[in-house]
Amino acid sequence: METEKLLSIDREHLWHPYASIGNPPPVNFAVSASDTRIRLADGSELIDAVSSWWTAALGHNPPEVVEAIKRQCDAMTHVMFAGFTHLPAVELAERLLAMMPPGLTKIFLADSGSIAVECAAKMAVQYQHALGVPRKSKLVALKGGYHGDTTGTMALSDPDGMHVLFRGLMPRHFFAERPKSRFDGEWDDSDFASMRQVLDEHGDEVAAVIVEPIFQAANAMWMYHAEYLRKLRAECTRRGILLICDEVATGFGRTGKLFAHEHAGIVPDIMCLGKILTGGNMTLAATVASEGVAAAISGDKIGDNETSGSGGGAFMHGPTYMGNPLACAAARATLELLERFDWRGAVARIEAEFKEQLGAYSALPNVRDVRVLGAVGVLELERMPPAERVAQIIRDTGVWLRPFANYVYAMPPYITPSEEIRRITGAMGEMAFNS
Ligand SMILES: *Cc1c(COP(=O)(O)O)cnc(C)c1O
Repeated sequence: METEKLLSIDREHLWHPYASIGNPPPVNFAVSASDTRIRLADGSELIDAVSSWWTAALGHNPPEVVEAIKRQCDAMTHVMFAGFTHLPAVELAERLLAMMPPGLTKIFLADSGSIAVECAAKMAVQYQHALGVPRKSKLVALKGGYHGDTTGTMALSDPDGMHVLFRGLMPRHFFAERPKSRFDGEWDDSDFASMRQVLDEHGDEVAAVIVEPIFQAANAMWMYHAEYLRKLRAECTRRGILLICDEVATGFGRTGKLFAHEHAGIVPDIMCLGKILTGGNMTLAATVASEGVAAAISGDKIGDNETSGSGGGAFMHGPTYMGNPLACAAARATLELLERFDWRGAVARIEAEFKEQLGAYSALPNVRDVRVLGAVGVLELERMPPAERVAQIIRDTGVWLRPFANYVYAMPPYITPSEEIRRITGAMGEMAFNS
């Protein structure tokens, strides 16, 4: 009854993600969570097969992270980052630097993945401006991509995707076809033609190319060939265009490497991080820039180019809650935990289990494609079951899945044991059986 009352206030007044408030979809009332489980007000439990939007890779409420947040609460919950620094921020920076590829050393702490992408785009534009080519102020992105929900990042996400309604609001960028060569298939050289054409036509207006490396997550659940990134890296370098890897979804082990760009053996100029950064405990993201990008923005001399200094020296962004000490403490503790945990072993095990168990569904008439990479398992269906059937399967199996478009996917916590992976793939199969 108490829960019913609370739910009715929620229904009446609280907007949920991508949901109607006039005709709201049902929501579960969560009361606590630990490891892979979310407990509901009615006493039941759900296995969180999507790691609460891909964040809780080490499980919910990891005691070490909760403890770190509590300790930081006692000392200082927040202080502005302009004119101040603090231990959690500096220690987080040290942890991050130890994980970064060579040359990526300048960290901007943002408050969400979208803001990290906004910052990357602004850095790219300031970089070109500082080099004396202010005309290079557009970006190139891939069709089928997703980079966030703010106006600037919607404009970089799939142009025919969920943001189409807001076209009038968005700045205009350029798009290349997404690579068709599968991650685990043969490379088809014609796959790069679209990007080459866009850069040939518009390269002199382009500050940077932004991609989700290897795995296009929120829009397409598509894993593409590493050769694409190698070609793109070379092409960007040749043309004086920056390469931004949006690793918000792929970072911190999800695809089997610490960062997905490692599959291609390349290094981006700017990298965006979020989601697993705090293990699903607080909102925090980061944009990490190369020495060269930072130097140009700072108006330093780079190579033979005397920069004009018209980049202004300062990077012009500063969120109110930038570098929040609680979020930094959570991130630092999460990265510590990740380092101690055999995530490579865990992700490889989940990948093998997904390949075997989801692979078995590939012969079903309703299954168009099965894709697995690291701790990501995707069933692309011909027809999705209706929402009521999805909800029923979630209730019956006790597995929380959030299918979208034609995709039923799982991105579970790395700590998910084998028997729960089997329950997850079982629930995914139930959704696929519908025809
Ligand atoms: C989720 C996501 C974002 C946006 O992150 P928010 O924290 O939701 O703003 C950006 N890029 C990619 C690749 C993502 O998966």
